[in-house]
Amino acid sequence: MTRAPRIAILGAGIMGSSSALLLARRGASVTLFDAAAQPFSAASRWNEGKIHLGFLYNADRSLGTIRHILPGGLAFKRLTEQLIGCSLDPATTTGDDIYLCHRESVVAPEAMQDYFRQASDLIRQHPDARRYLVDVSACRTERMTARELGAITGSPDIVAGYRVPERSVATGWVADRFVAALSAETGIAQQMATRVTSVRPQSAQETDGRWFVETEDGRHGPYDFIINSLWEGRLAVDLTAGLKPEGNWSNRYRLALFIRTDRPLEVPSAIITTGPFGDIKNYNSRDFYLSWYPKGLIADSNAISPPALTALSPDRTREISHSVLDSLEALLPETARIRAGIEQMTVAGGWVYAAGRGALSDPNSTLHRRSDYGIARLGAYLSIDTGKYSTAPWLAHQVADSIMPVAA
Ligand SMILES: Cc1cc2nc3c(=O)[nH]c(=O)nc-3n(C[C@H](O)[C@H](O)[C@H](O)COP(=O)(O)OP(=O)(O)OC[C@H]3O[C@@H](n4cnc5c(N)ncnc54)[C@H](O)[C@@H]3O)c2cc1C
Repeated sequence: MTRAPRIAILGAGIMGSSSALLLARRGASVTLFDAAAQPFSAASRWNEGKIHLGFLYNADRSLGTIRHILPGGLAFKRLTEQLIGCSLDPATTTGDDIYLCHRESVVAPEAMQDYFRQASDLIRQHPDARRYLVDVSACRTERMTARELGAITGSPDIVAGYRVPERSVATGWVADRFVAALSAETGIAQQMATRVTSVRPQSAQETDGRWFVETEDGRHGPYDFIINSLWEGRLAVDLTAGLKPEGNWSNRYRLALFIRTDRPLEVPSAIITTGPFGDIKNYNSRDFYLSWYPKGLIADSNAISPPALTALSPDRTREISHSVLDSLEALLPETARIRAGIEQMTVAGGWVYAAGRGALSDPNSTLHRRSDYGIARLGAYLSIDTGKYSTAPWLAHQVADSIMPVAA
């Protein structure tokens, strides 16, 4: 192909935007579609931003999840900084995360400790361990003493605590940098406020040929490649391409509280695990993320297309925020200090697509694993299950390499 390839990218979250920036910088002419008025309006703006080292998936004793998500987590800083053109340091949490084992956890404390030991071994041995958001080449996880635990929680429901060197990024900050990078890139045409309904090959028999994108406004194309990164909207469009989803899947809509306090607070980042619990993330002493899973879960669907959601009423929003704060405060009393210092609070979130089903309280639920996401391909049509925010830039490199490899 002598002219620049024309590529349609569906979905302007972290997955679609990372792919768009990479491909445009390799010389492609990219059209980026999204139903929202702006890129990064959905899950990729409103999530916790944990850059996974694999500790969260301690119910997956096969270690399949950590092996799958670790390389992308370790590469996140390097790849994202290249994409947005600036350092992630101002957006990165400064302290270790504390994992607190709940009495009703699906993983017992000893098994959790054993998992963390194996996870730390894998992390230390990885060649990119120094390139994570902090150097984790000497990664060890420490079990907290009873005294240390008592300083964080007085609740008998918390039976053990571990300090792990995992970090998170403030996703709103990162989203704003991605939006600026997309606008500065001349090879990307943004087709926002446009809902994609289907895709069609130009010739029904030739999936390797060109494709059209059909939207509520009409037909666009033809394109040399289509990359579907629509997240909760992906499967419905895959079906129109002839790609049928296999196995199980679920789309859960999760809300969390994004809080700015009127003063700096030294509250530790703590996650209660493993099951339907919650967490507090302290990004920079004034910006916090708080979640309590059962209160923030407002939709759970196994349909190909999850239901359209209507805006929450102010009363419902208030009720959710109060019950998230109450539930966390019962286990983590420091929540009260955040609550007393609220200067600004946004209740927001997004869909979580997972190739799994069940309840987090069930140790056998396939939701405790994330080991089989990635790229599906039908000729020049690619469908990407992002899996995790933390692995999206790494997956975007695989997408770009598979259609426009960099010359050796
Ligand atoms: C509360 C919460 C906490 C989370 N915490 C973490 C975490 O700590 N670490 C982590 O790694 N992951 C986390 N996640 C998951 C993470 O947010 C997602 O994996 C990631 O953001 C998905 O990125 P994406 O680009 O695929 O999807 P999105 O950011 O959702 O982008 C998809 C885009 O497609 C658009 N779209 C959908 N359908 C259509 C259509 N038919 N036509 C046009 N546009 C359409 C949407 O408007 C959206 O902009 C969390 C998610 C939530 C909700």
